Amino acid sequence: CLVLVQQSSTIFNHHNKSVFTADLDEDSCLSRYQSSLYRKTSPYKPSQHLISKLRRYEKLHKRCGPGTEAYKSATEKLGHNHVSNSGDECRYVLCVSPLSGLGLGNRMISMVSMFLYALLTERIMLVDQRSDTSDLFCEPFPGTSWFLPLDSPLMDQLNSFNREYSRCYGTMLKNHCINSTTVPSHLYLYLFHDYGDHDQMFFCEYKQMIIGKVPWLVAKSNQYFVPSLWLIPSFQTKLIKLFPQKDTVFHHLSRYLLHPTNQVWGMVTRSYTAYLSRADERLGIQVRVFEEVTSPPPIKHVMDQIVACTQREKLLPEVDTQGSHEQVTTTEKTSKLKAVLVTSLTSGYSESLKSMYWEHPTSTGEVVVVHQPSQEAYQQSDKKLHNKKTLAEMILLSMADEVVISASSTFGYVAQGMGGLKSWILYEPVNHTVPDPPCGRAISMEPCFHVPPVYGCNGKTGTNTGNMVPFVRHCEDRFLGIKLV
Ligand code: GDP
Repeated sequence: CLVLVQQSSTIFNHHNKSVFTADLDEDSCLSRYQSSLYRKTSPYKPSQHLISKLRRYEKLHKRCGPGTEAYKSATEKLGHNHVSNSGDECRYVLCVSPLSGLGLGNRMISMVSMFLYALLTERIMLVDQRSDTSDLFCEPFPGTSWFLPLDSPLMDQLNSFNREYSRCYGTMLKNHCINSTTVPSHLYLYLFHDYGDHDQMFFCEYKQMIIGKVPWLVAKSNQYFVPSLWLIPSFQTKLIKLFPQKDTVFHHLSRYLLHPTNQVWGMVTRSYTAYLSRADERLGIQVRVFEEVTSPPPIKHVMDQIVACTQREKLLPEVDTQGSHEQVTTTEKTSKLKAVLVTSLTSGYSESLKSMYWEHPTSTGEVVVVHQPSQEAYQQSDKKLHNKKTLAEMILLSMADEVVISASSTFGYVAQGMGGLKSWILYEPVNHTVPDPPCGRAISMEPCFHVPPVYGCNGKTGTNTGNMVPFVRHCEDRFLGIKLV
């Protein structure tokens, strides 16, 4: 244990020296310090600008966070409909997750988006503590808290914030109830996948000028809306400095913000040590089936697609079904050990792979071991243990050398981005058949913004934000989606 701690401090000093501030308590969040022991060193280094920005953010959060005088005076403003703006007060963005139904991948990509928005607009980000966030993630900022206190006047209203709510930004715009002379004390931003034309105006530069003055923003989202922030000219100027490598936003911010709690980290490290640590190479395969199925898993064409992809891209060795390689018996010492980590709600895909590599020799002599940590059967996002397993599995996948992920799955996006991996994406099957090609390399490790605004800032609908600048392109797995490259 001592060795591990010493080692972790050394690596921390070399690798993460400046991403994390020194004044955090190591024992309360082991993952923050030990992650670098389980991952290859990231080739992507955060810019000096990003590091300074995070340090300034931490100071701001400490000055404005719960329990401070500044927080109290900002909270008092919530008692008024409008506020006068003197420009030097603390401003907040509260990130609210719906209490049921939202998958963890969606939650994580929207939290990272909201945090970037907070960084860009000098707000502090708070989160809703009614969900299981504290069971999943460590407090990210030193000497303060990111949870909205339970006695906040916003607390009672959170459930009633919906699109009909009188302070919903899109609804106010539609009803011409917002202007640049009166500043509301709070605004609700609806940024879910089914948001409307007026909600989408959030992504317009001139609207941001008004929104920027509002002390409290309450936002609900399930999207990775970062690419659209890059299309707001004044944000773009700041973003280029923060992220000279544009496709590293999720990688850096998720690793900074979303550290699993000790309990989740224990699940990660036990699984890693037992099943992955001794392998020469690690491949992660994330299987997420969105299509309606009538037969029990494994679904044949999905299994065929996994095998076709992993063999075509030489991620896994072929097997010799004729027995002609049976003589290739390798000794324990010489044979290369390849560990495959499968994540899926059902066990059929990993069992099939396991049987395939047990029943037949590989053509290369490699030994393939297959591990699946959980089989939860169906999505149970309201259960704490279920979400902990989900997070542990995303992180384990991110520790692989290569990953294969399922099209359109935010679960897979998180693993890819945290790992700094350009994954192989299993394209969506059409008519229950294996697509040709079965998979393709991601154009970047960033998540896809599935539903970018189509309502342009000029008030016309049908805007294509995937061809405005070279670094925001349409996603490989969602033609209408956009991503940073
Ligand atoms: P998406 O729906 O694929 O975009 O990913 P989300 O993470 O947003 O939602 C899917 C949810 O289903 C996850 O958060 C989990 O609750 C559950 N789930 C799906 N696949 C798996 C899996 O392989 N392992 C575990 N533990 N849960 C899964």
